[in-house]
Amino acid sequence: MLDRPRQEPGLRHGSARDPRPGADGLGRVTESGSPASDTGIMTRIHTTAGAAVAVIAGQRVELLDRARVYACGITPYDVTHLGHAATFVWIDALSRVLRFAGVQPEVCRNVTDVDDVLDAAARRAGAAYDEFAAIQQFQFDRDMAALGVRSPEHEPRAHRYVEQVIRLASGLLDAGVAYHRHGSVYFRGQGVASRVGLDRAEALRLSGEFGGRPNDPAKDDPVDVAVWQATEPGHPAWESPWGPGRPGWHAECAAMAMSVFGPAVDVHAGGADLKFPHHAYHAAMAEAFTGVRPYARAWFHSGVVTIGGAKMAKSAGNLVLLDDLLAKHPAGAVRLMILDRPWAQNWDYRPALLEVAATRLENLYQAAARNVPNDPAAVDAMRRLLADDLNVPAALDLAIEAGGAAARTLARVLGLS
Ligand code: ZN
Repeated sequence: MLDRPRQEPGLRHGSARDPRPGADGLGRVTESGSPASDTGIMTRIHTTAGAAVAVIAGQRVELLDRARVYACGITPYDVTHLGHAATFVWIDALSRVLRFAGVQPEVCRNVTDVDDVLDAAARRAGAAYDEFAAIQQFQFDRDMAALGVRSPEHEPRAHRYVEQVIRLASGLLDAGVAYHRHGSVYFRGQGVASRVGLDRAEALRLSGEFGGRPNDPAKDDPVDVAVWQATEPGHPAWESPWGPGRPGWHAECAAMAMSVFGPAVDVHAGGADLKFPHHAYHAAMAEAFTGVRPYARAWFHSGVVTIGGAKMAKSAGNLVLLDDLLAKHPAGAVRLMILDRPWAQNWDYRPALLEVAATRLENLYQAAARNVPNDPAAVDAMRRLLADDLNVPAALDLAIEAGGAAARTLARVLGLS
């Protein structure tokens, strides 16, 4: 996924204090490695030195020194299941691999604590939405810590960004891509589905499944979505220029991402099931608001976990809860079961997979303990494999075979040590 070419002595840019031959004391290095002439004209810049190239889902992303990663976080209304865990373990692995390549990842993982599903769960529990969300969030953080998922650099909560959503809605109205009806503001969604290769019928089906209310009679077109939803009983409400109401789901994420990172991100990450409508509308709103395209340089949609071929869902009664897995298996085995596969592929969970992962983990630890001479070439080869769209299975094979420092390095990079 990410490849940072090794810096060769005498070829990289020198610093003012760089004593190496070839550095001219002004950060300039000549092709031959000899000092630049007094004219200060460089004969060639070795642009490969220090440049990092990410390839994510086939998309090439050049990175200089940091990577802005926006991750769609949880709606804190229920316990963590394996599907959630897989998404956030993969995003954590992406961030660790970026760091391994010498880029500073900056992960922003939001908390969707203003959400219709959360409101309904809080009502059932007889709790205020924000108190209910805070308790669920605490449990989620505990689950993530158990799996070795690092805390993100930014963790915006939707209820703190209502004002930014109002500004976003105003900007979209000014740009003529949104309209106001009965206290709600709707974003015109024509063209959003086709950008992600969906036809109208499939787009409307998914919109209905994810709470997009395609049958709302206030809309000009069923594909339009609420940036601002007029107040309704049983939901929190805030004042706005259009009367009391609450932010729409896609608009919340767009506002949080733009508030933290500005108009664009290097990678937008989340489960593949969020591709449409959530991510598609988020990107479309951000681009319409800022005029900056594309909003995301690359998308990291991790595969969906199924059970017997069916999507994991509370309504289907087939949830595999993280608590249950961690009660019976080491966290490292659960983590490696998630990571030892192509990240974008959907996969079916079976308990036997945990046994396979436990064996792989044991093999890695034994390889790490092997007393073999350091092999920088093996570490480099592993770095290239991870650069190849996070090819964890191949990197793991190589580390187990090479042993020593290569195995210890991989265990650290994958968060298994
Ligand atoms: Zn989101």
